[in-house]
Amino acid sequence: MAEADIALIGLAVMGQNLILNMNDHGFVVCAYNRTVEKVERFLENEAKGTKIIGGKSIKDMVSKLKKPRRVMMLVKAGAAVDSFIEQLVPHLEKGDIIIDGGNSEYTDSIRRAKQLEEKGLQFIGCGVSGGEDGARYGPSLMPGGSPKAWPAVKEIFQGIAAKSGGDPCCDWVGEGGAGHYVKMVHNGIEYGDMQLICEIYSIMKNVVGMSNDEISDVFAQWNKEELDSFLIEITRDILKFRDTDGKHLLDKILDSAGQKGTGKWTAISALDKGMPVTLIGEAVFARCLSALKDERVEASKQLSGPKVKFEGDKKQFMDDLKQALYASKIISYAQGFMLMREAGKIYDWKLNYGGIALMWRGGCIIRSAFLGDIKKAFDKNPNLSNLLLDDFFKDAILKAQAGWRRVVVTAINNGVPSPCLSTALSFYDGYRSETVPANLIQAQRDYFGAHTYQLLSKRGEHVHTNWTGHG
Ligand code: NAP
Repeated sequence: MAEADIALIGLAVMGQNLILNMNDHGFVVCAYNRTVEKVERFLENEAKGTKIIGGKSIKDMVSKLKKPRRVMMLVKAGAAVDSFIEQLVPHLEKGDIIIDGGNSEYTDSIRRAKQLEEKGLQFIGCGVSGGEDGARYGPSLMPGGSPKAWPAVKEIFQGIAAKSGGDPCCDWVGEGGAGHYVKMVHNGIEYGDMQLICEIYSIMKNVVGMSNDEISDVFAQWNKEELDSFLIEITRDILKFRDTDGKHLLDKILDSAGQKGTGKWTAISALDKGMPVTLIGEAVFARCLSALKDERVEASKQLSGPKVKFEGDKKQFMDDLKQALYASKIISYAQGFMLMREAGKIYDWKLNYGGIALMWRGGCIIRSAFLGDIKKAFDKNPNLSNLLLDDFFKDAILKAQAGWRRVVVTAINNGVPSPCLSTALSFYDGYRSETVPANLIQAQRDYFGAHTYQLLSKRGEHVHTNWTGHG
């Protein structure tokens, strides 16, 4: 009997939690998994006493779905998604919807949407953020793909999503791979936010000489102000956390960062599209450098730097650090939105930037009060060409600028790396420059490769000079 509102394939942590969330909101879910024994186990344990049902096979699962059939996958990204799509297609009818909620590459989602639409089916590539807790109690959802599929899933998705001021952190993003693209940029920004916090922590610890508890107290205060965010909140708690022996656990953790690839994809996409998303790029490279632990240990014995000496006013410097973090964050989000704007142009996605800020406002890892201000900026002017040109952010950077510069200079003078704080400032200075030294690059290119250049007085006309006088 067709009784289920939606099927969900994939009974690992994300899938199970999303099913339970859907159940809490009154939707009947049919669960399925490649290893079918996990379905029974889930029904007898986590799903006991709920309205959740299970499928014994793909055919059995599909037969239990109301029409249009909605089948969501939360499985390992890549081949597993294609494999399930292949198995599902013969059992589905025109108008049925396949949803991929995994961390898929947006190019795969573009391909899948096209292939399924050609078969009369519909596809949604949906970014899901918030980890297991988000999936269970309210994730941020970023759906994109076949536009006709949206009305059929809207109620479920907006029902289970996190809420910000009563508004769901989920809205239609755009066609094709738009949902997964926006999720990818979200993850890239997450890399940037995390690295910025790490640089601030490192300056506090290595330049100012503060203890973990002291740093935690500063973050606790910042979390009550404009930097209020999930990542500041957990950093506050991590810094205080003690191991069973009473010592700080953080100090025992190997300083070699892992990564699953979405930050790298964002940086690659930025390079591909010619967008200067420098902060995310530096955040990815900072993880790469951290992973060279053995090399760093060896180099630390041979390469020297300045002696650390902090002479400033500590209270003033704490405020400078806050301004540096805030201003750099503004740059990172401005760069992220520049990238989405360019991708929107290339793929013809009509992205709603205020809507994206709202989707990220709650439920996800980068959730913050700050995203509320970004939403306000795009609500005020949906055609805003760059976040930095919004009056609120223009003013915020103006106020933060002096402290931000002091922090970068202090980090450099003390030999403490601050790649993201520094690149943000360089970007700001570059973006606000009427002239940059690219005239010399053009001259060099023309000199050695006859690549031509344009004159300021005759833009559009490409000229070549014989720089050496040789024939
Ligand atoms: P996962 O470990 O990424 O994947 C496990 C699930 O994928 C299981 O159901 C597994 O089935 C299935 N699977 C693996 N290889 C398969 C294959 N070749 N063919 C068919 N099925 C296969 O699970 P997860 O952590 O719950 O994440 C699910 C998706 O959400 C992933 O794309 C992940 O990147 C994304 N995501 C995760 C998080 C998070 O915090 N974990 C947050 C956001 C998004 P078996 O049980 O049969 O092995």
